[in-house]
Amino acid sequence: MQGFTLNKFLKTQKRITPHITQTPFIHSSYLSEKFGSPQYLKLDNFQKTGSFKFRGACNAVLTTPKEDQQKGFVGFSTGNFGKALAYSASLVSTKAYVCVSKLVPQNKIDGLKMAGAHVVIDGNTQDEAEKNVQKIIQEKGCSFVDPFDDANIITGQGSIGLEVLSELSDVDTFLLPVSGGGLAAGIAAVAKQINPNIRTIGISMENGAAMAESLKAKKPVLVQEYPSLADSLGGGIGLNNRYTFKLLQDYLDDMRLVSEDDIYDALQELYFNEAIVCEGASAVGLAAMNRYGLKTGKTVHIISGRNIDMGLHKKIIQGMTVQLGDITITGNKK
Ligand SMILES: *Cc1c(COP(=O)(O)O)cnc(C)c1O
Repeated sequence: MQGFTLNKFLKTQKRITPHITQTPFIHSSYLSEKFGSPQYLKLDNFQKTGSFKFRGACNAVLTTPKEDQQKGFVGFSTGNFGKALAYSASLVSTKAYVCVSKLVPQNKIDGLKMAGAHVVIDGNTQDEAEKNVQKIIQEKGCSFVDPFDDANIITGQGSIGLEVLSELSDVDTFLLPVSGGGLAAGIAAVAKQINPNIRTIGISMENGAAMAESLKAKKPVLVQEYPSLADSLGGGIGLNNRYTFKLLQDYLDDMRLVSEDDIYDALQELYFNEAIVCEGASAVGLAAMNRYGLKTGKTVHIISGRNIDMGLHKKIIQGMTVQLGDITITGNKK
């Protein structure tokens, strides 16, 4: 797909670097030993607002003309993007309205409010929540920012790839959590343009994997949404998807799905062996390694966010059974 040149990614990185945190990039001895090849973790759970979403949101806000910035921003979000957009808006002293569905956990709504967002809760799915966006655009003249299918968002997320490859030039494989695909598209586009031999593997949860289903169908499709430990990976990719679907068709080598049990175990494993507290969405790379026995050489896991409900996280590390809506995940009482 055209327009996503390395030069564009480099320009974006330069624009957002003064605002974002250069997050730690660590080697995991435990995982390297376990999988028999070097394993690294890019810790964007330590990014401002608790997830990598701040990279793209910050870029989208900074590339908006000044007079439009002052009218404010509007978005829809499972939480992390909304938080990132609200914080980014505050950087230019303006506000952000965020439309979320009733599926979004309370801790994320609290997080949004803390980041300064004006939260609009309505609808049973992400797609329903999106309908409120139109109203707000019309009423207030705000700029809409798509959480993933926007060129400025994608190039912003790609800065992770640039940071990683500047520290470790001979990466063999990136393990990329996938929802709408902004994160994976940005990193994969950077990685493949720098070195086409780098392998890019996308991972989603089994229940409601919109991008995986779309790639299989060779066109964007709708999927039903379910509660998941990887709640940040929920939501559709949009039937009129403009960028991320095609970019992933071009730049993603493989797509794998993991179960709720796989995610549960990976969250425990990251906690007990690397002292990492992260979201289910960030543990899917490790979950896929465990499930599929992938041979990936020098591997980079993207730890994408830390905004997990701490009560839920505590239950998981204690091995307790977890109930998410109709879904029961049986613990393993370590
Ligand atoms: C949004 C998000 C993802 C997925 O990113 P997309 O660009 O939507 O594919 C993964 N992890 C976390 C923590 C997220 O917030």
